[in-house]
Amino acid sequence: MQYDLDQVGDIVLSDPSIDNEDEYYEEYLQLDEDLPSPVPPELVQALPTSKFTELNKLNFSEENKYCTICQSNYEVGEQYLMLMCLHRFHQPCVSEWFKLKDTCPICKEQVAI
Ligand SMILES: [Zn+2]
Ligand SMILES: [Zn+2]
Repeated sequence: MQYDLDQVGDIVLSDPSIDNEDEYYEEYLQLDEDLPSPVPPELVQALPTSKFTELNKLNFSEENKYCTICQSNYEVGEQYLMLMCLHRFHQPCVSEWFKLKDTCPICKEQVAI
């Protein structure tokens, strides 16, 4: 009896907690839009992108073979974006990052506007 109640409680509680986190996240992003230094999406779009190739996989140094934001390796054929400091990231990952910061996640160099 008690065991059954616990199980039901776990299932019911898990969904609302996810919803709340989403709401907090959205509010956080909205608040951050008032800060003076986020990077405008137009600028992120204007940054050079390239496709990760087999050759890149062989030639790139280890630190350039993965995206520091999501901590995963680039797959061949994936688009990455390069900043002025020559650091590379997934385009979607860095777009999210630039909603909060205007500096490179690795070297903290400010993105030129
Ligand atoms: Zn990434
Ligand atoms: Zn950098």
